[in-house]
Amino acid sequence: MDDRLKSELAAWLDFYRDLGIEEFYRRAPGARVENRKSNIENGPGPETAVTAIESSIPAPEPRIPNPESRVLIPVPAVALNLFEAPPPPPRRERETLEEIRGDLGDCQRCKLAGGRKTIVFGQGDPHAALVFVGEGPGADEDEQGLPFVGRAGKLLNRMIQSVGMKREEVYICNIVKCRPPGNRTPEKDEVDACSPFLFRQLQAIQPRLICCLGAPAMRTLLGIKEGITRVRGQFFDFASTKAFVAYHPAYVLRNPREEKVLRADFETIREYIQNRAEKAGKLSF
Ligand code: URA
Repeated sequence: MDDRLKSELAAWLDFYRDLGIEEFYRRAPGARVENRKSNIENGPGPETAVTAIESSIPAPEPRIPNPESRVLIPVPAVALNLFEAPPPPPRRERETLEEIRGDLGDCQRCKLAGGRKTIVFGQGDPHAALVFVGEGPGADEDEQGLPFVGRAGKLLNRMIQSVGMKREEVYICNIVKCRPPGNRTPEKDEVDACSPFLFRQLQAIQPRLICCLGAPAMRTLLGIKEGITRVRGQFFDFASTKAFVAYHPAYVLRNPREEKVLRADFETIREYIQNRAEKAGKLSF
């Protein structure tokens, strides 16, 4: 640097020091002015701090800065750009039935736990298009750990066949997973404790049709307070799928004259499945 440039530069530095500006920066070669905003967006930019522009220019006496006279602008450790949406949270994989069963563990969440032999979680195809939801395990189910394996189960199996499906192709579960004493109707606190697991199972399976067997299943899933006699045989929206209401097979066993009503309701299910399959151009719905 020639002498004239040096003395001009020294004069400018003196001028700025008189204004109280003590620190000078030399921009790194090639750095452009637009990069200034990189301090905000990306952290420190390519500027390099120097106390004097060239070592040949006499450096000023170092002054101890008075901390109170300096305004410190905090620089966020992670720079934020308010105009950019944060990245979406990672998509959660759909839960599996095994995970839900694992969460349930040796469930003690309600008073039914004390009287049960086995937790009856559910049985069938984890990707079933058709799910049946009953009330709660009876003695046979409690013994075997499987839903609908007693007399009501045999009738349900026949009904499933009547819609052209096999038991292994559907999924069967209940609103409570432990046997209520004397096969009584599950109480509200028991349903409240257990039904979140049922909802998670349905969310995991994502069936195209859920069949509520009996009034307790209808009330739990659909919140319908009316008597089942008026509601059976009808379809309802449930989450992003459909739910259908039918009599409970055990009720039909106690009232054999109602079997024709149950058959008629399963015929409605069969037609629904057939229509959906035809529309989708598939064998199953
Ligand atoms: N009744 C039900 O509601 N569920 C069963 O699993 C058996 C009988």
